Amino acid sequence: MRKSFLVFGSPRIEEDEIQEVVDTLRSGWIGTGPRVEKFEEMFRQYIGSDFALAVHSCTAALHLSMIAANIGEGDQVITSPMTFAATANSIIHSGATPVFADVERSTMNIDPKEIRKKITSKTRAIVPVHFAGRACDMDSILSVAREVNAIVINDAAHAIETEYHGKKIGVLGDLTAYSFYATKNLVTGEGGMVTTNNQELADKIKILGLHGMSKDAWKRFSDSGYKHYEVIYPGYKYNMMDIQAAIGIHQLEKLEKYAIRRNEIWEMYNRAFANLPVILPAAIELGTRHSLHLYTLLLKLEELKISRDDFMTLMHHENIGTGVHYTALHLHPYYHKRFGFKRGDFPNTEFIADRTVSIPLSAKLSDEEVQDVISAVQSILTKHQK
Ligand SMILES: *Cc1c(COP(=O)(O)O)cnc(C)c1O
Repeated sequence: MRKSFLVFGSPRIEEDEIQEVVDTLRSGWIGTGPRVEKFEEMFRQYIGSDFALAVHSCTAALHLSMIAANIGEGDQVITSPMTFAATANSIIHSGATPVFADVERSTMNIDPKEIRKKITSKTRAIVPVHFAGRACDMDSILSVAREVNAIVINDAAHAIETEYHGKKIGVLGDLTAYSFYATKNLVTGEGGMVTTNNQELADKIKILGLHGMSKDAWKRFSDSGYKHYEVIYPGYKYNMMDIQAAIGIHQLEKLEKYAIRRNEIWEMYNRAFANLPVILPAAIELGTRHSLHLYTLLLKLEELKISRDDFMTLMHHENIGTGVHYTALHLHPYYHKRFGFKRGDFPNTEFIADRTVSIPLSAKLSDEEVQDVISAVQSILTKHQK
């Protein structure tokens, strides 16, 4: 057994990030400033979008996207119940009602046929979640959206590197929200970004994210002379700080190097688990790039004497951290009570939620650590097979 606990989703942080944070602290400008501007420009170029606007989380990015698109009271927004709570919470924050559409079992992504069934005269937006970094079926989603005049806001928290037919997710649809939370492929501690090709939406997001103050108000204390600002909306406090951007700038430079490492780990796992009682991640669709954010196994419970939660406990005993992405969102107390959702409503989501377990996939992992994970999974599943 391993001597130390292997933390699930621990990020790879190196000396260049650390030095840039120290430089930022010494620079005297630690709030929103030149490093945020630089990070936004680098991210914009990486995605290929016209605009990129840094915020302090993906939750903020999703909320601002809804508000900027005038989504609110009386509107319905269709999304996946196989996601983190922030996706649907942000719809509720805007005043709109989340409407869930079930996912496909194999891709774990929202099923365009299920979206169609959920369209009403109140549908204003669709929020595809690119689960684990696998691109959703964007041709179908964009075509439903166009037919009913709904906007598309991508939840790309898992999907920075993800491509669909040669394009990054952040240039498809109307708005895209990214996360730089501590476990994501690119980390800034807490952080997020909105990308869009729509100038009007970009301007609104910039203003709404910083108290509703007129554009570039953060420059008011800079050496170009004090400038007055004007408040034109009752905005939010969602801006990113230079301390966060300092980390992001170097994380972005190393994103492709880290992707190569995660791909190696992904393939080692695929080979090692091929004959175990598990369903491996589906093959990656032709014409797409998967960001390899999460490696999720579905336990074949019918062939095992243990539950998913037992499996996680046994992994913990082996000193290996695991995660669940996700328990079904519609069955959480708030969603169950407020909207009356119950077991059986979204069978594919529930099938996945009952069986799924995510194992470490950080670019930080050494070969030895990957081997520890593999050995633990193999021995637990072999021992507890029926
Ligand atoms: C992490 C995550 C979020 C929230 O991101 P934050 O930056 O923590 O706000 C939203 N959606 C999904 C699918 C996520 O995994």
